[in-house]
Amino acid sequence: MHFDRHSVDKDFISSTPGYFPDVAASWWNDHTWQLKNRITSLSQLEKHLNLSSEERNGVLLSGTKLAMAITPHFLNLMDRDDPECPIRRQVVPRIEEALEGEDEMSDPCGEDAHMPVPGLVHRYPDRVLFLVTSRCAAYCRYCTRSRVVSGAGDQELDTDFEAAYQYLEEHTEIRDVLLSGGDPLLFSDDKLERILKRLRSIKHIEFLRIGSRIPIFLPQRITPSLCEMLKKYHPLFISVHANHPRELTLEVKEALERLADHGIPLGNQSVLLRGVNDDTKIMKALVHKLLMCRVKPYYLYQLDLIRGSQHLRAPVAKGIEIIEGLRGHTTGYGIPQFVIDAPGGGGKVPINPNYVLQHNDKRVVIRNYEGEVFEYPETPLLKDSPLEPAAKFEA
Ligand SMILES: *Cc1c(COP(=O)(O)O)cnc(C)c1O
Repeated sequence: MHFDRHSVDKDFISSTPGYFPDVAASWWNDHTWQLKNRITSLSQLEKHLNLSSEERNGVLLSGTKLAMAITPHFLNLMDRDDPECPIRRQVVPRIEEALEGEDEMSDPCGEDAHMPVPGLVHRYPDRVLFLVTSRCAAYCRYCTRSRVVSGAGDQELDTDFEAAYQYLEEHTEIRDVLLSGGDPLLFSDDKLERILKRLRSIKHIEFLRIGSRIPIFLPQRITPSLCEMLKKYHPLFISVHANHPRELTLEVKEALERLADHGIPLGNQSVLLRGVNDDTKIMKALVHKLLMCRVKPYYLYQLDLIRGSQHLRAPVAKGIEIIEGLRGHTTGYGIPQFVIDAPGGGGKVPINPNYVLQHNDKRVVIRNYEGEVFEYPETPLLKDSPLEPAAKFEA
């Protein structure tokens, strides 16, 4: 199959039949068939794609680091001949993964140091990240958690569920639990429901969310019965992960609509990736398609300093340029917050273009998206106000 690398892929196309013309629709649409028929070896991948030597050697290397797995659905979005295909770059390993930049780390966000209980990351005051599995439907080559994900590396994710529930029960300040991993939607409906039910039994937990790329990698998993189960645990949000507009196929759109129809608010977390989406036109097409699928672009991440990810890293300046190219130029709902997850464990820090040219106690000088300059008079802070409103109310 041929896709133009430079195309912005504005249309919602079907991912079938692609490289699998002989597979019956009933099999294709069954997520268990998709999982059983994932591409996990060099010989399977070479049946469909013309690999470069960088890719071939990368696949051989991946067995000892982060495993390769690609769903047939996602394979169908790849160009047969172009190793620079933006879909291929995300999930086909390359030998560049063996290069280690001097600032790169195995745990770039310092998660292991913020786990009071194995599998539970408590970094922010009122919310936690709960790593419920180490497996995904397919493996992103730039995975921030590749040290524990896929089972190929030497570190294991040892989530202690009972200890995690006990920690959550004791810590009444936690009102938000984010299920991630790995991909929680890989669990059966029953297994996932047991976790959600247990979390809902904890009174102070108000807000649940799931981080999942399954709607993108394996839209067949988003069955009506999964959606019916999830809707019992509202408020429940889902953050999906799409990086390039071609990932939003007809099947993916229908899966996202099914989730939205069950009242699940959807956000998207993209990672800025060189040769994938480091381009304002591509990002604009992506956010427009996300809005059409009722997904709010939530974060755009600067790529974490994960080992062997240099070939996918775009400059921070490119991310700022993309945000600047969106703000004012298109729907505000379509603009994600660009963030750097601070190396070593500082959490997410917003990175914004600079629209404030000057700010003192008299005025703020600002520029708009077209570069025009405006002035807004500054108002004194309340505590400095001669009116002393607090004292006035008391009287
Ligand atoms: C990203 C993240 C969260 C959630 O952050 P929000 O900004 O609320 O989406 C929570 N905990 C950890 C450790 C995270 O990395």
